[in-house]
Amino acid sequence: MTRADRLRGYYDRKRETMGVRARRAHQDGWVRALVAHAWRRAPGVRRRMEAAGLRPAAVRTLADLGRLPIMKKSVMPDLQRTDPPFGGFCAVPSTDLGWVFVSPGPIYEPFARRDWSPWRTETAAYAGGFRPGDIVVNTFLYHLTPAAHLFDRGLALLGCTVVPTGPGNVEVQVKTILDLGVTGYVGTPSFLIAILKHADEKGLGRFPLQVAQVGAEALPPSLRRAVETDHGILTRQGFGTADLGIIAYECREADGMHVMEDVVLEICDPETGAPLPAGETGEIVCTVNHRAYPMIRFGTGDLSVVTEAPCPCGRTAPRMLGWRGRVDEVTKVRGMFVYPRQADEIAAKFPAVTRWQVVVTRDGHQDGLEFHVELAPGASAEQVSGSMVEAIRDVMKLRGEIRVVAPGTIPPNAKKIDDRRKWD
Ligand SMILES: [Zn+2]
Repeated sequence: MTRADRLRGYYDRKRETMGVRARRAHQDGWVRALVAHAWRRAPGVRRRMEAAGLRPAAVRTLADLGRLPIMKKSVMPDLQRTDPPFGGFCAVPSTDLGWVFVSPGPIYEPFARRDWSPWRTETAAYAGGFRPGDIVVNTFLYHLTPAAHLFDRGLALLGCTVVPTGPGNVEVQVKTILDLGVTGYVGTPSFLIAILKHADEKGLGRFPLQVAQVGAEALPPSLRRAVETDHGILTRQGFGTADLGIIAYECREADGMHVMEDVVLEICDPETGAPLPAGETGEIVCTVNHRAYPMIRFGTGDLSVVTEAPCPCGRTAPRMLGWRGRVDEVTKVRGMFVYPRQADEIAAKFPAVTRWQVVVTRDGHQDGLEFHVELAPGASAEQVSGSMVEAIRDVMKLRGEIRVVAPGTIPPNAKKIDDRRKWD
C-alpha cells in the first residue's frame, strides 16, 4: 500500500466532515442526554450539580456547559476514597462492567462491556493511515491502564490484526515485526526509535513497518522527520488520558489534532475556569460522551491551544495544537499567563544561549520578568539582548529584561520559570 493510499479518505466521512451547525446540533444533543443520564445514574455527578444549584434542565446546549463547575483530575482520588470505588461516577450497574482500569492516584476507571469502542480509536487510527489488513504491534502497556486496550478495540473494528506485544524487550519486538511482516506500530515515539535503532544496528535491512500511531509523550518534529524520511514510516500522533480516552488525533496534514465528535473540548483559564477564545493557551477541559463513566467538564491539568481554522483534509472539527505543559507550571505576570513552553520557544531562537531561566520578581507593586541566560564562548551580550527582548514581547506579550550570567550560574535542574515574588 502506498503512502498516498494511507492518507486518503475518512473512517466515517459523514461524522468527520459535518458542517459547523450540524456538529453543534450533534453535540448539543448528546451533551443534553449525557447530563440527564448522569443525573439519574451517577450520584457523583448529581452531587456536583446540586452543589452548584443546577438541575439537568439547566444544561440544554454546549453553551450551558460553562455553568457546571470544572472537576479537576487531582481531586478524583479523594472523591473515589470518599465514595468507593468510583466516587459515584460510574453510571451503569456493576454487572455491566467488563473492565476496570487503574491509573496512578489511584484512580479507578470503569468500562462497560457494551461499550466496545466508546472512544472511537478507530477514527484516529484510520486518519493516521492504518488500513484493514495491517498487522500491528501494540506496544502500549496492557496492565492496569487503558491505552493498549483502547487501540486493541479500535484496530479490531478497523479490520487490523493486533499483536499484543506490550512495551519492552526490543529484541522480541524486532523479531516479531520481521517474522510476521508487521506493518503497523502503536506506542510511544521513543520506543519506536529504540526498535528502529536496534534493527539498524543488527543490519536487518528493509523493515516492513509502514505506519505508526504514537502518543503518551511529546513527538518532536525532528523525531517525526527522522522516522518518516529515514525509515519511510508514516507517523501520526493522538492525545488522550486514562479518564477520557483518545480525545484528539492528527490527520494527513499533521498540523494539530482534530477533536473527536464525541468530545467537547474547552480551553479554560487555569485560574478562574472560564472558557477562553480559540487561539489562547489554557487548561484542557473535556466532556466525553461515555455513558458508563460520564466525565463532564473534566479538568485534565494539561495545557493546550485550539484553532478553528479550516483544515485542508476536509475534517471540520477544531484542532488542538499540541501539548503546552501542565497547569501547575503556569505563572501569571502583570496579568498575563507565562508558560514554560513560551520560554522554550524564545530560547530556541537564540543558538548563542546555552542555558536559561525565566525569573519573576516583584519590586513594590510591580512584577518583573527577567530572562537569565548563559552564553556560548565567544558570544556577546549585544548579540542577543535587543532581539531577545523583542522575542519576549512577541511570544509572551510582556516587557522583559535580559540578564547575562556567568556560565555555571544556572543549575542543571533549574525550574524553567522561577517565581521569586514574595506575597506577604
Ligand atoms: Zn485535518
